[in-house]
Amino acid sequence: MADSKSLYQEVILDHNKKPRNYGALEHASHKAEGHNPLCGDHLSLELNLDGDRIDGIAFRGDSCAICKASTSMMTTTVKGKSRQDAETLIQEFRDMATGKLDFNHQPHHLGRLTVFAGVRDLPMRVKCAILPWHTLHAALTSVASTSTEAADDPMDAPIGNA
Ligand code: ZN
Repeated sequence: MADSKSLYQEVILDHNKKPRNYGALEHASHKAEGHNPLCGDHLSLELNLDGDRIDGIAFRGDSCAICKASTSMMTTTVKGKSRQDAETLIQEFRDMATGKLDFNHQPHHLGRLTVFAGVRDLPMRVKCAILPWHTLHAALTSVASTSTEAADDPMDAPIGNA
């Protein structure tokens, strides 16, 4: 447990110091804005799809450390992947963060993203970690703006299988 906690802190620090794919794309085919009013996280996500593949991805925004690290890792994970593979990861991450996925025993594709599994015990932080994935789903389905509250609440909305 101590090990997974220190790895978590290391990942958060590293991705906040050096966020990956931070900035804007020259050509974006899809984009979405994500808001988490509970924490004040806001992010702007841009994608460029080449056919069915995520060829380019970039984000900007003003968010807490957990949200920023989750966004940064999300961009490196889905870059180069197909839309379907990205939707699978969105679903798996959401299930892990909300405690629905037993990631130690059930099959998944999350890899190092499992460092975020601890947020399931931190209700205030779950939405911070999920926001980038929720925003990615919005961008892929051409929804311009999304929020972790109200009708768009990722805790209730069946994201990932649209
Ligand atoms: Zn946050």
